Amino acid sequence: MPDLDPAIARRMIDATAYIFDMDGTLVLGDAASGGHKALPGAADLLSTLRSRYTPFRVFTNGTAKPPSVYAASLRHAGLDVADHEMMTPSTSAAAWFVRKGIKRVRVLGLDGVQAPLIEAGIEVVGPSEMASNVEAVYTGWFREFTLPDLEMACRDVWDGAIVTTASNVPFFAALGGRAIGASFAINAMIRAMTGKQAKVLGKPSQNALHSGLALMNLPRSAARSTVIVGDDPALEMRMARVSGALGVAVTTGLNNAADFLACAPSQQADVILSGLEPIVKALS
Ligand SMILES: [Mg+2]
Repeated sequence: MPDLDPAIARRMIDATAYIFDMDGTLVLGDAASGGHKALPGAADLLSTLRSRYTPFRVFTNGTAKPPSVYAASLRHAGLDVADHEMMTPSTSAAAWFVRKGIKRVRVLGLDGVQAPLIEAGIEVVGPSEMASNVEAVYTGWFREFTLPDLEMACRDVWDGAIVTTASNVPFFAALGGRAIGASFAINAMIRAMTGKQAKVLGKPSQNALHSGLALMNLPRSAARSTVIVGDDPALEMRMARVSGALGVAVTTGLNNAADFLACAPSQQADVILSGLEPIVKALS
């Protein structure tokens, strides 16, 4: 493995914080157990950061489960990740609603989507629950979606609620090929009915990055000294490009080096690595 460019290694060493993607970056899904398997270097990297007092967050873009469930799965795979160090788009959304003073939110989604909002003290209105004065509609993973849920959400929007979403990506990688992103489809229906485009609060939005920094007690200006590590150019590398963070692409997930190099400038990585070990080496 060739040595890192010294300027890149220096930014890794001097970093204020790290944000990691989960699947394809720190772990791979383990079909046999339904859990996760740590990728080489992942456990070492997190313990190295801990010994250096460099804060980090693990940010996965799914809302099927609450963050604490993902954190427990990562610990089971041997990674030292506390519940509060795990983020989903709902963690980011909850922090954003609090920042904006939004207190009553209709959530189109179940426990995985709702839990971080409830923990943050936001009043969560269930999908087809009768309610008035809803300030925001928030959509996430929601396979149980029905037409009455759409009707209630549209009524809120016609009454002035804003539309927000965990993710607006049409497909995600799943066992056996691509699967439909539930919130993308629901957002399209809400837009067709109300003309309102959902504001993305998960990756790759700057809201997501700013929430992650705020949860580490860091200002927005810390983005430029943050390292974002991931396997998806459209999510992690895009978030890095827009914010000035160091975008570190790893080829242990969805994409190989040629895929990363073929991306648009807005999704280019600062460095492409075959795994996490060179980061551990730079920090050791
Ligand atoms: Mg990934």
